[in-house]
Amino acid sequence: MSTNNSASKAVNKILEAFESGNIPQAIAYSTFTPPANIPAYKWTQRNRALAFLQGTGDARGFVQWKDAERYVKKGSKSVYILGPILKKSNQIMDIFDEKTGETQHEEIMECVGYHAIPVFRVEDTEGKPLEYLPLDVKTLPLADIAARWGIEVKAGAFNGEYNGYYCDGRKEIVMATDSEKTFLHELAHCSHYRIDPKAEQAPSWGKEVIAELSAAALMYMLGKEPPLGNNFQYIKGHAEEANLSPVNACMKILDTCLKVINEIVQASETQQLNQAA
Ligand SMILES: [Zn+2]
Repeated sequence: MSTNNSASKAVNKILEAFESGNIPQAIAYSTFTPPANIPAYKWTQRNRALAFLQGTGDARGFVQWKDAERYVKKGSKSVYILGPILKKSNQIMDIFDEKTGETQHEEIMECVGYHAIPVFRVEDTEGKPLEYLPLDVKTLPLADIAARWGIEVKAGAFNGEYNGYYCDGRKEIVMATDSEKTFLHELAHCSHYRIDPKAEQAPSWGKEVIAELSAAALMYMLGKEPPLGNNFQYIKGHAEEANLSPVNACMKILDTCLKVINEIVQASETQQLNQAA
């Protein structure tokens, strides 16, 4: 069928660029939110991971939400992050203050354990709209497919960790940027879970290379230029996890990648994609 032809053509174009080394510089994405506004941005990686596991990229204490003029919805349960329990160590450290020219003696605090701090997920609050929620889902290419597959697409704050993610368990795509490429990457993850019942167990490097290569190919198929520099860096990073070159990593997952793209083309009502197919 011609679908595979056009997907193959797009993928080949990308692989040729990767092989020739003629790749543009990666560009920075604009992400939602000045990160400093979000308490979670200052959290440790462990706490960000904890919040993510509990289904959110932004969680704050009751008072912090009040400061943002948002209120915790009735009946919402808190989730927990970990705060260090500090104890005086009886060790004194001299800290030189450049501004005043004085030396301060401060007792070093030791972390002797953690205690749970209750916070509430942004999803469980209401009130003043958050600055980082300007995502107009309808403007994303192929957003109709996510809807048809029962996937909720929502904006999430950038917390320094990811530009977006797909959670199969919760059937949601969370976007911390309005980058089309990021959305197509997450949509490709979703498509992968649809075509392969064992996707969950697939190695993470493979899943990421599949999603990224599919997203770049879909950009071409939609008549747009993919950010090849970013695609290359991303794929290179994950290929290294498997001790593969970027091109070899792509070759390994090529069959699955074409199926992933095909699943999306089949579901698409976008004229351009169907015509390309
Ligand atoms: Zn991914």
